[in-house]
Amino acid sequence: MPDTNSPRPVPAALLATLRSIVGDRGLLTAPSDTAAYAEDWRRLYRGRTDAVIRPASTREAAEVVRACAEAGVAVVPQGGNTSMVGGAVPAEDGSELVLSLARMNRVRDLDPVDLTLTIEAGVTLKAAQDAAAAQGCLLPLSIGSEGTAQIGGILATNAGGNNTVRYGNARDLVLGLEVVLPDGRIWNGLRRLRKDNTGYCLRQLFVGAEGTLGVITAAVLKLFPQPVEVEVALCAVPSPEAALDLFTRFQRHDAASIQAFEYMSGAGMDLVLRHIDNARLPLAQTAAHYALIELATPRPQAGLRATMESLLAQAMEDGIVDDAVLAENTSQRAAIWHLREEHSEAQKRAGASVKNDVSVPVSRVPELIRRAGAACTALMPGIRVVPFGHMGDGNIHFNLAQPEGMDAAAFLARDHDIMDTVGEVVRDLDGSFSAEHGIGKLKPYMMPDWRGGAELELMRAIKHAVDPRNLMNPGKIFP
Ligand SMILES: Cc1cc2nc3c(=O)[nH]c(=O)nc-3n(C[C@H](O)[C@H](O)[C@H](O)COP(=O)(O)OP(=O)(O)OC[C@H]3O[C@@H](n4cnc5c(N)ncnc54)[C@H](O)[C@@H]3O)c2cc1C
Repeated sequence: MPDTNSPRPVPAALLATLRSIVGDRGLLTAPSDTAAYAEDWRRLYRGRTDAVIRPASTREAAEVVRACAEAGVAVVPQGGNTSMVGGAVPAEDGSELVLSLARMNRVRDLDPVDLTLTIEAGVTLKAAQDAAAAQGCLLPLSIGSEGTAQIGGILATNAGGNNTVRYGNARDLVLGLEVVLPDGRIWNGLRRLRKDNTGYCLRQLFVGAEGTLGVITAAVLKLFPQPVEVEVALCAVPSPEAALDLFTRFQRHDAASIQAFEYMSGAGMDLVLRHIDNARLPLAQTAAHYALIELATPRPQAGLRATMESLLAQAMEDGIVDDAVLAENTSQRAAIWHLREEHSEAQKRAGASVKNDVSVPVSRVPELIRRAGAACTALMPGIRVVPFGHMGDGNIHFNLAQPEGMDAAAFLARDHDIMDTVGEVVRDLDGSFSAEHGIGKLKPYMMPDWRGGAELELMRAIKHAVDPRNLMNPGKIFP
């Protein structure tokens, strides 16, 4: 058996070839420069790499991949390195090279009639949103890491986020792709057609493939008209069931105006208020459960404020909302969203946590919250149950923070027990063990159990057909 931790350096001749392709600016080799690319955001995985390659164009990226393929060296595509599952971390033995798309950061085209944005993979999601907004358009994908996560990573993970309830996941927003294949060929599928039934839909193969089939270098994304009315409310609700009831009422009234519907637990909010600067609860007192509602519309004089006020007033009368506050301006809206977006960071500061990015049918979210919470508490008394997330699409981040005072390593040693405990409830509710974060390095062991048989065989067959030598992000997705 080879020792997987003993160093396997990349041939010096390959590094020289890569330098000749991308130049000095495009190749990082000093350990002090490469270290940050070899560790994930959660600091669960630390790999090693002899070089980080930073091509500036699709042609350079293709030449890099071809050179690596000829040398038999594996490549790990990397965007903002914000993966929650260690998806962009290279192997520990140093045998893989990181391909960073960060220098491919141009907006190639924005068409306000076609409502399309043609953009390179290394543009951050925030910069892409800003480019759309500058032309009066909306790129509706929105996630907590949008200042750092890049379009290539967003697509490779089929990111979801806050607005999935209305616009779908990244997959639903992509019309075309440009991809460098594992042998260095370029597939130019940058079409901006709304209808194009011409055989297999190849672009969707690369979306959500987590860099295991090729390197996304550019994409055509759908845009929408910019909303002109936006209303945000934070509600204290007595139970997860009440939060679901509230969501259903807004959906029945006008599903098309629900831009986001988020759930937060009281325990999670407490961590945010304790650990995050400038976090302030705009309600009279803390609650056991919260709902964050955002309504938006491009229609002028749509009366969203009146809708929000009347639905919430009725909900209070019916006892499904205890208290609510409506943002009066942009900064109040941002302050409410800050409470939601800082949940991950607050949990990180509170010590070790085990994350379960799971989904169930929307109607079963309250049952998930109750049953999985009870099961985890029975497994480990004192564990802090801090579920939050996208209730409107049935995607809850069922996170568990370590009991106060417990050794972090001892807690993390139980991660599989905890994940399996949540998983049992999720399975019973017809859910998925990975809603939007993907599989990465964290969850391949769960694949045979959840996606075994024909499904996993088909995935392996596709992987083998596109990347027969397993040179694209090995060790991810597949056990
Ligand atoms: C604070 C925080 C909040 C988050 N909130 C959300 C959320 O609400 N919803 C959500 O879905 N996710 C969320 N995430 C997870 C993460 O931000 C997303 O998975 C994001 O899409 C990853 O983008 P990235 O550019 O950082 O990709 P990376 O982390 O660099 O890579 C992720 C995966 O994509 C592959 N990849 C990257 N670029 C390319 C490319 N150009 N071509 C092919 N493969 C590529 C990598 O190999 C890896 O497998 C959050 C993360 C953080 C830290």
